[in-house]
Amino acid sequence: MDNLSIYFLLLLAVIAGWLLGRLGSPRIHSKTRNHSDIFQDYFVGLNYLLNDEPDEAIDTFINALEMNSETIETYLALGALLRRRGKVDKAIKVHQTLIERPGLEQDFLDSARLQLAIDYIAAGLLDRAERLLNELLTENSPAKLDALKHLITIYQTEKEWEKAINCSSMLLANAGHKKDIELRTAAAHYCCELGEQFLKEDQHSNSREQIKRAFTFDRHNVRASLLLANMEQRLGNFKAAIKELIRIRNNNPEFISQLLGPLAECYEQLENMTEYEKLLTNTLPDEPDVSVVLALSDLVKTRSGDEAAIEYLNEYLTRKPSLTGLVELLRLQIPKSDERVGGNLNSLRQMVDSLLRKKPTYQCNHCGYESKNLYWLCPSCQKWEKIKPILEAGGS
Ligand SMILES: [Zn+2]
Repeated sequence: MDNLSIYFLLLLAVIAGWLLGRLGSPRIHSKTRNHSDIFQDYFVGLNYLLNDEPDEAIDTFINALEMNSETIETYLALGALLRRRGKVDKAIKVHQTLIERPGLEQDFLDSARLQLAIDYIAAGLLDRAERLLNELLTENSPAKLDALKHLITIYQTEKEWEKAINCSSMLLANAGHKKDIELRTAAAHYCCELGEQFLKEDQHSNSREQIKRAFTFDRHNVRASLLLANMEQRLGNFKAAIKELIRIRNNNPEFISQLLGPLAECYEQLENMTEYEKLLTNTLPDEPDVSVVLALSDLVKTRSGDEAAIEYLNEYLTRKPSLTGLVELLRLQIPKSDERVGGNLNSLRQMVDSLLRKKPTYQCNHCGYESKNLYWLCPSCQKWEKIKPILEAGGS
């Protein structure tokens, strides 16, 4: 939110709260402060706002507003504004004062507790936030769904995957959230986190259980499929591994470059490289990543020698030029050339190669974060499975 919108919201909140508070309960203010005090504070606050001192303005308005049932929503809005401006201590104070107020209606009390829990999260006091949110949950408060969302954030931060899965299931059981794709994707990744841990400890049946659970949240989850393929390969079930890898190729073709290594290993174990070559050739027309072309040229090289591979790459790159393909072509050409030309070609190859190495391999399609490694959780926008391999299709 930009500064202008914050001021606008603040003004609206305060004017509405102030008018309701003052005009709606004449008996209360006559007992406490007189009109001129209130107006004085109100204009001091406005002055701070106009002088670009919003923090002082918020303080003045909080002091000016009398706390009563008409101004509670304004207090909640001001508390949230304080937190957004990084004044978490002050926000905590405002929300605690609200909660301690005797006779507060249950709805407002729950809203204030929820806001206080969010303050605690912002302050890094996750234990306190968790306790407060769990209270809202057990009391079955109307703030329960919001409480669940914040609990999921806490458990994700603390890597308490089982608890994160339970909260996600509770939230997904609600009609309004049933089809929430982001929530489903996140829950599938929590299961994958557990599945990966079990796989590391060679607890295969536990790992398999978590992978199955991941698919109940997200049928096409690419990480769960990769994990399953990896486990099948480790167990020597090469056909099952290939089946899963091909499923990924069909559902998530952008991950093709991740599949080639394990696919080649599995077909090699089955001594069926012809089938592998057929699969790659069938994949080619889909304009995939250049890695498919390189894998094919490698197969041609093993089967029919360097010359055949050079011819294959030459023919392909003439139609669809690619820098990565060019590096490979140079690498194959160098031993065939005389010393002087070979030396020149080698420097050329190194130059292009170093330029390519500087390019990122993965990119978040939500926030644009670029990296050399595949992260399932974007370190920048904290969204799951938004980082994808950058494809170098023919022609790029
Ligand atoms: Zn991102």
